[in-house]
Amino acid sequence: MRTFDAIVVGGGLVGSAIAYGLTKAGLKPALVDEGDVAFRASRGNFGLVWVQSKGLGAPHYQRWTRLSAEEWPALAAELGESIGINVGLQQPGGLQLCLSDNELAQRRAMMEQMRIEAGNFGFDYRMLDRQEVAELLPGIGPSVAGASWTPYDGHANPLNLLHALHRGFLAGGGTYLPNCTVTAAHAAPRDFRVTLGGEEIAAPRIVLAAGLGNAKLAPLFGLSAPVRPQRGQILVTERARQIWSMPLGSLRQTQEGSIMLGSSEEDVGFDTSQKPEVMQKIAQRAVLSFPWIAELQIVRAWAALRVMPPDGKPIYDESERFPGAFTANCHSGVTLAGAHARAFAPMVAAGSLDPMMAPFSAKRFPESPDVPAAA
Ligand SMILES: Cc1cc2nc3c(=O)[nH]c(=O)nc-3n(C[C@H](O)[C@H](O)[C@H](O)COP(=O)(O)OP(=O)(O)OC[C@H]3O[C@@H](n4cnc5c(N)ncnc54)[C@H](O)[C@@H]3O)c2cc1C
Repeated sequence: MRTFDAIVVGGGLVGSAIAYGLTKAGLKPALVDEGDVAFRASRGNFGLVWVQSKGLGAPHYQRWTRLSAEEWPALAAELGESIGINVGLQQPGGLQLCLSDNELAQRRAMMEQMRIEAGNFGFDYRMLDRQEVAELLPGIGPSVAGASWTPYDGHANPLNLLHALHRGFLAGGGTYLPNCTVTAAHAAPRDFRVTLGGEEIAAPRIVLAAGLGNAKLAPLFGLSAPVRPQRGQILVTERARQIWSMPLGSLRQTQEGSIMLGSSEEDVGFDTSQKPEVMQKIAQRAVLSFPWIAELQIVRAWAALRVMPPDGKPIYDESERFPGAFTANCHSGVTLAGAHARAFAPMVAAGSLDPMMAPFSAKRFPESPDVPAAA
């Protein structure tokens, strides 16, 4: 039986960032991944490192996202220097366009609530009127009423990030076990064993980061991860000259020049098919924002499934029944990569989660096994 310092289940962005972080903490983990049969959000996302709308009514989530955005430059630099992969991080701030006065008023109220909830921590934002947006972004459409701006937002190349995290993990002494599905496990406090294709592997720590697979895996370890799929569709245009200096929430220009248009939020179960009517709505909103986008050819489009907790906020937990077992679930695995690699992984390495993570526990959901039925 091979033994490791930790087993991380799930080789998407969440699992890879945590597994990479564990190697930086000096551990020798195994990263187990199911392979191409899975629904992998990490290969179908929009690539935003996005802060400005995260954590309304949940200041702990706003702080966690901000922390991640702050850790991102060090993560990107570290991966660039040690692995030689440019993950394309740019954090020039971000704009969210509003296409009516009503949208602008709602956005203003939301941003102000975020500022109030941030308290002493602070939340820097500005609302821009139409004229100010026009000065920053050439060729806006007549419907653009204004925009919200924060300095914290950015974007990156998510495929390069995933590749770099895997390479960094291997370079740090991690063991990658692909094409292995975890379906059963032996769990005891700080003693976890999983059987993979006839071989048993063991570790004193296990991290469930299997995306949508976590819903089934978590109960095996006394945990709960009631995540559901949420479909998102994305369109990509041919390359254009570099035109925007920052990402715009549902529009972003890649470093290669393509413009990504996205992304829908659809509750349709495990269905990754594309729907012309949804694609049309995405394109229409982009053209209302910038009429010149209509001249560009759409060269690619896809659908992928987000890993969505019931209230949209991440779930991080450690098992009370089986100390040493952890779970991590979120719908912003690009944005939160900095926190996963540089804050969450060190907590796992140290053996328990920091008390600041308590509000992220699945105990907040009535169906959690840790919540008494009458509660
Ligand atoms: C359309 C769309 C747009 C998005 N845009 C953004 C964005 O702009 N910014 C942002 O921050 N986030 C964005 N996201 C979300 C982001 O992509 C996800 O949060 C992130 O990819 C989730 O990563 P994950 O590792 O949890 O899940 P996944 O990528 O699904 O990976 C889970 C992995 O676990 C493995 N697995 C599952 N079950 C098992 C098992 N039993 N045994 C072994 N392995 C298993 C699978 O093989 C898979 O590789 C977007 C998502 C979508 C769909």
